[in-house]
Amino acid sequence: MDSQVIGILGGGQLGRMIVEAASRLNIKTVILDDGFSPAKHINAAQDHIDGSFKDEEAIAKLAAKCDVLTVEIEHVNTDALKRVQDRTGIKIYPLPETIELIKDKYLQKEHLIKHNISVTKSQGIESNEKALLLFGEENGFPYLLKSRTMAYDGRGNFVVESKEDISKALEFLKDRPLYAEKFAPFVKELAVMVVRSLEGEVFSYPTVETVHKDNICHIVYAPARVNDTIQKKAQILAENTVKTFPGAGIFGVEMFLLSDGELLVNEIAPRPHNSGHYTIDACVTSQFEAHVRAITGLPMPLDFTKLSTSNTNAIMLNVLGAEKSHGELEFCRRALETPGASVYLYGKTTRLARKMGHINIIGSSMLEAEQKLEYILEESTHLPS
Ligand code: ATP
Ligand code: MG
Ligand code: MG
Repeated sequence: MDSQVIGILGGGQLGRMIVEAASRLNIKTVILDDGFSPAKHINAAQDHIDGSFKDEEAIAKLAAKCDVLTVEIEHVNTDALKRVQDRTGIKIYPLPETIELIKDKYLQKEHLIKHNISVTKSQGIESNEKALLLFGEENGFPYLLKSRTMAYDGRGNFVVESKEDISKALEFLKDRPLYAEKFAPFVKELAVMVVRSLEGEVFSYPTVETVHKDNICHIVYAPARVNDTIQKKAQILAENTVKTFPGAGIFGVEMFLLSDGELLVNEIAPRPHNSGHYTIDACVTSQFEAHVRAITGLPMPLDFTKLSTSNTNAIMLNVLGAEKSHGELEFCRRALETPGASVYLYGKTTRLARKMGHINIIGSSMLEAEQKLEYILEESTHLPS
């Protein structure tokens, strides 16, 4: 299995967890990112590249050391990736064309609409008051004004509650390419990880429920607390979505569940995803290993994306930088006291609300996992017996 070397653009926590999964298979990984980033901390290879993963020459240097390149982030220079691919013949998964479509959230929406995937009504929009007023009048308030590019953790989004908000929205997102999106009155947010093999086969992980706080993923329930029909429908929608992107690798598909059971795709991530971190402890194969297998052409047998046992229930809690210095570590300490909980810290410098790590909690029922979560969050002083 060690015949291929994987180059990773980006050395954050997702890169770090890809490194972990690859090393268990003796697959060497080389990181391209600035400085001593989290993925480099745990990878003693000498030939990492210090530099921007947007820099073409740095990508070419990485390609010269590797058999396949992958990304831990979609905000990369896809033109540079394409040129390096043409020049060197290096394999790149996900395909640069796929990343290009996904990193512009409006191009992504147009692509999904073209392939009959249900999404919230979206429209490219000029950055002026008249256009924003017209969208609100035609589609109702509130609606979302979103940056097409460089968006994460809701930082490129503005909820336009009424016409009084229009000038604030323009001010907030000024100079960014924009699109507008109708408000989805969701009852839950769901997500499904899907891995696609080099042969184009897709395998979905269980449907999970994501809870956001201030636009940042906070808690994930796996499986989602929805009935089996919705569970299955979401997996099929996610598989159909990922089938529209040629190439190989893991994808996260975020969705809205409406009160009548309808599902709309919110957005796609062409990489491991925060909503899939629970897979490390709860599934036969983690999302990170699935990605490694997919892009190197290793076997992907039946059911390898399933929950480990029929009564495995998991909750993932993100460890976000706290106001109090290292305050977030108090949750981690309580997690260490909790049976069935595992702590993952990423080696990042603390900043308020920054993703510092995550905690996976396993229970033989969701109630048991929830009780453990309450203990970790200091909402209860008792661990379930
Ligand atoms: P991520 O970190 O997931 O990449 P992002 O910055 O790309 O986030 P979105 O996923 O577009 O942002 O939106 C963040 C959150 O805002 C969603 O998870 C959802 O809670 C809410 N949201 C986004 N779009 C809509 C919508 N059309 N209707 C209702 N709520 C929405
Ligand atoms: Mg996003
Ligand atoms: Mg999102």
